[in-house]
Amino acid sequence: MPEMVEVDILVLGGGIQAVTLLRELSPEFSVIAVNGGLFDAESLHFHGYFSSGWNAAHPKAAKTYREAAGYWRKLLEASSVNSRLTAFYAALPRDFVDIVEPNWLAAGISAEETTLPTPFLTTNLPSHQSFKFDDDLVFDDAEAYLRLSAPVASHIVAGRADKIQREGSRVTGVTVNVGESQHQVKPQLLLSACGAGNAGILEMMGVAAETVDKAQLVRPLHMLLARGARVPPVSAFLFDLVVVYHPLEQGEGLWILSLNPEHPKFRSGTIDMATPPPIEKELIRDSLERLSNCMAGFDDWVASCQWGVYTGWKTDAPGPDGNALMQLNYPCPYYLERFEIDNFLSIWPNHWGLAAAAAREAGEWVRSQLKSRHPQPDEDSGLRSGPGSGQAIEDRWLSDKLVWQSWEDFVRQIGYRD
Ligand SMILES: Cc1cc2nc3c(=O)[nH]c(=O)nc-3n(C[C@H](O)[C@H](O)[C@H](O)COP(=O)(O)OP(=O)(O)OC[C@H]3O[C@@H](n4cnc5c(N)ncnc54)[C@H](O)[C@@H]3O)c2cc1C
Repeated sequence: MPEMVEVDILVLGGGIQAVTLLRELSPEFSVIAVNGGLFDAESLHFHGYFSSGWNAAHPKAAKTYREAAGYWRKLLEASSVNSRLTAFYAALPRDFVDIVEPNWLAAGISAEETTLPTPFLTTNLPSHQSFKFDDDLVFDDAEAYLRLSAPVASHIVAGRADKIQREGSRVTGVTVNVGESQHQVKPQLLLSACGAGNAGILEMMGVAAETVDKAQLVRPLHMLLARGARVPPVSAFLFDLVVVYHPLEQGEGLWILSLNPEHPKFRSGTIDMATPPPIEKELIRDSLERLSNCMAGFDDWVASCQWGVYTGWKTDAPGPDGNALMQLNYPCPYYLERFEIDNFLSIWPNHWGLAAAAAREAGEWVRSQLKSRHPQPDEDSGLRSGPGSGQAIEDRWLSDKLVWQSWEDFVRQIGYRD
């Protein structure tokens, strides 16, 4: 029988949400996070972009975004992560501006109406207004994750929650697999920050399948990548096309391009994150077509880049009103839920940057429930694996598993302009 390890708080997960929870809760409480591995974690997939709230259609949500962006800006700067690689521009439909502009004023979001910088062209876009958002953040996810997780890395154990024991409305223990060994953890409180894996944790706890199905939605996100020495150092949102610039080594730059499809293919319930969504060639063709419409010199430029594509699962937890998708007009843009279990909380940040607001709210709940009782587990517990937990921490868009192709080969493969 494995030895029982008692701890104030057990966090499941190890993405940005778990790291932010660890930063919020330690050293005030004894707390460990058990993480299944970062390769599939959304936190290392993402564009490296966080909005200052201009897209939130509710004043409270806009304020939450703005405060979160300010929090990360300070933290990233203090950790020497360059947190504004480029300014962020957006071309927005006028009816959308009518809805969100009052929130910018109310929430103190800095917005300057301006023309889009070179090489963006807006002549082919429907009626719109263009803005520059100075408080938006563009940063390198892996570098940010590494620096922010460093102070709490000794609290992160590379392992998986395998079983959760419950007596009535309380969690009484969690079986954790670490390599070949199995450990029993008895936390006073259990926090689930497993991203899309939260649904699997709810299942493990015996939450009704129907409730699990409604708890979160997961949708495919396509990342079209262009890298080369002539990638323009600008980031923008062009109606429904996100363009995020990252500098690379040796004078190269990278654009991450994502087109938001009109009808995302949502999936509910548990999902195997290790199997990425299939690439939809039509969506990639549409993304290129959209870029070609919005970029001066597109046809001359494309051959100067190497092209790649990957897909990831993006998790959305919709909130309590049963709507299938987190709505832009919700007052709270992240989601915390207890599922009628007294010492349990699951957390969906919905966006990287909102992990800060979600962790703060989780921290308030923890403090209302708990006085610290247990010391931090020591090395003998087998639950202290040390910095990095032996896992590669790299941006998905820099992974050596990505295939890069010349323009000619890429367009032939995806059937663009056949
Ligand atoms: C392609 C893509 C682009 C995105 N772009 C943006 C963007 O531009 N801006 C933005 O703000 N947000 C963006 N997001 C969303 C953002 O990345 C996520 O909201 C955020 O990273 C979620 O963090 P998390 O810690 O909750 O989950 P994750 O980072 O997914 O971490 C969950 C962790 O839980 C672990 N886990 C799962 N099951 C178990 C288990 N049973 N036991 C132990 N551990 C387990 C997993 O291994 C993983 O490490 C994007 C997401 C994707 C996929």
